[in-house]
Amino acid sequence: MSLSYGRKLLSIPGPSVIPDSVQNAMHRASPNIYEGELIDLTYSLFPDLKTVAQTKGDVAIYIANGHGSWEAALTNTLSKGDKILVLGTGRFAIGWGEMGKTLGLDITLIDFGNATHADPAKLEEILRADKDHNYKAILVTQTDTASSVRNDIPALRAAIDAAKHPALFMVDCIASLACERFMMDDWGVDIMVAGCQKGLMTPPGVSFVFINPRALEARKTADLVTAYWDFMPRINAEIYYQNFGGTAPTHHLYGLREALNILVHEEGIENAWARHTRFANTIWAALDVWGKDGALTLNITDTKYRSHAVTSIKMADGNGTRIRKWCEDTAGVTLGIGLGMADHGSAEWDNYFRIGHMGHLNVPMIMGTLGSIDSALKALGIPHGDGALEAASLVISQH
Ligand SMILES: *Cc1c(COP(=O)(O)O)cnc(C)c1O
Repeated sequence: MSLSYGRKLLSIPGPSVIPDSVQNAMHRASPNIYEGELIDLTYSLFPDLKTVAQTKGDVAIYIANGHGSWEAALTNTLSKGDKILVLGTGRFAIGWGEMGKTLGLDITLIDFGNATHADPAKLEEILRADKDHNYKAILVTQTDTASSVRNDIPALRAAIDAAKHPALFMVDCIASLACERFMMDDWGVDIMVAGCQKGLMTPPGVSFVFINPRALEARKTADLVTAYWDFMPRINAEIYYQNFGGTAPTHHLYGLREALNILVHEEGIENAWARHTRFANTIWAALDVWGKDGALTLNITDTKYRSHAVTSIKMADGNGTRIRKWCEDTAGVTLGIGLGMADHGSAEWDNYFRIGHMGHLNVPMIMGTLGSIDSALKALGIPHGDGALEAASLVISQH
């Protein structure tokens, strides 16, 4: 007998929960892609996407997951053999750099490990030593979804400025856009990539490259540009289909329109950031109490560098996988697997799990996830501190 009959809850770090109204907006017959509503709808997306990213720059939309936006960002601005600095803080910037290698870029990885942020002082030191300005770009994630670290983007920008280095600053916000405070223009980010299936609450399949004037300038000399991934026709479309390099992702556009209605016009982006911060604090409060007996630890110790969209948790004795299975099979909530912290399938791998807390979430969803984990700890006989739900409830109540 299972207790999981009822609406299932997905608490993984992407894809995230799709709002009913987004799903409903997509449930329709195919529209005309040459004239009419869809075209106006598409052009209405651009200003709202720019609000979400806090930029006056350009945005190109791709029919691709986040990996596609990675490739577009690199090929539009760089040339074969260019030296690139990758700031590794888990899995994702490293993966972006590995992709760059296959494109013929010369990658230097500065690996800060799995449990801490990219150190601005170290970046400044490396850039100061690069007197000939050989590094053409710096790649970093705002949130690394594997380690759940949150990098301090303004501090990294300040380090680049202090070293007076001209490299393009490229930030992966795939896990963090619309969850974390992010201000592309104020923070001096040259290129930002994002997907639609995390903070933007839409099914996977559309991704974005946000481009500032420095990135547009770099496009003029980049020799990796290819016809399909070129962002120029997409941002300067003379005919509608050029925005997408072909047929528009019709239903995704309807879904995204509704998601942006919720995010930008109902909730407001500042409020969305604040909600994610509150929920992150709620989850950490519960984890701190459970962890008093040493049953689990948060992967990122310093709250200043913890993601507000995903939390990576370490346990022992394979308990990460046991908790996940109990929560999914018995309670109806799916937690995230550990990612990038240990080899998949190894005994160590089973010690990790993640809670995704990005996107369309409210108090019963967060408290339901925490309540299910609390029950799992008890059902599985895993020693843990008492009062975690009380502590979580207190954080919510202080709102
Ligand atoms: C999810 C994610 C990606 C990859 O996105 P896909 O849509 O799976 O290709 C890249 N970077 C970060 C930080 C992510 O969270």
